[in-house]
Amino acid sequence: MPVSAPPGPRSRATRALYLIPLLALLATGCASASGAEPGADPTAAIPLPGPDDGSSDEGSPGTADGGDGAHEPVGDGPLHDRVVVIDPGHNGGNAEASSEINRLVPAGPQQKACDTVGAETGSGYPEHLFNWELSLLVKERLEADGATVILTREDDEGVGPCINERAEIGNEADADAALSIHADGGPETGRGFHVIVPGEVEGYTEEIVEPSRELAEDLRREYREGTDIPYADYLAQDGLDERTDLGGLNMSTVPKVFLEAGNMRNPEDAALLEDPQWQERAANSIARALAVYLLRE
Ligand SMILES: [Zn+2]
Repeated sequence: MPVSAPPGPRSRATRALYLIPLLALLATGCASASGAEPGADPTAAIPLPGPDDGSSDEGSPGTADGGDGAHEPVGDGPLHDRVVVIDPGHNGGNAEASSEINRLVPAGPQQKACDTVGAETGSGYPEHLFNWELSLLVKERLEADGATVILTREDDEGVGPCINERAEIGNEADADAALSIHADGGPETGRGFHVIVPGEVEGYTEEIVEPSRELAEDLRREYREGTDIPYADYLAQDGLDERTDLGGLNMSTVPKVFLEAGNMRNPEDAALLEDPQWQERAANSIARALAVYLLRE
């Protein structure tokens, strides 16, 4: 059951910060003249001649435009009509529920286990918790810019949903994009992140292969630039891995990718994955990637 967490206290503070470079690229007259992002664009502080040079330039962030109806209220944000499903991989109770998570569910042409326990770092930071915490940070950022964000689980306790149900949540929401957040349990000597894209599976993924690859390329670029984690050196190709055996992708009818955010078994990656400040940066880059993808559509 999709559940939205209550908005965090940092929503205001983080509003649109991850979008500043993006908006500089995509800025329309509306965005730059409204004063919605003071400081984002040095020219915004320069009074512009013309009838539209209203008092809104003096407005504080979060206030609506001058009331002439020419602009959407700032509060709606650039992603106001977009729906994103964020899937924090695994769940906190999986380790104690082996019979439940081992039952077979539809995963495309084949069946697979409902879920797995997931990885953990050498110090015992579990992947399900990392996935949950990073997902909340991404959600907060996207919502601050108006997106509707649906999480596939409501907390980090208990079991489920199964991999096919996670995909169905995106399908039922007719999401514009879906992202499953994971961290890998690779060899201790290997490090790096990778993005998993759906390969073509007849009768299942034909419609989502192309847009999912586009989403994956946006995510790979922004995540590489925004974090200090390199492309995985122990699998995948330049940070991208095409898979046809993942139920979470095969059962999706909306564009979807998996992020393997780093290798929890590698000490260098683990130090970053465990760092709350690094998590904020990672969330910025993930949210930016989604925004770039969503605004290009
Ligand atoms: Zn995982």
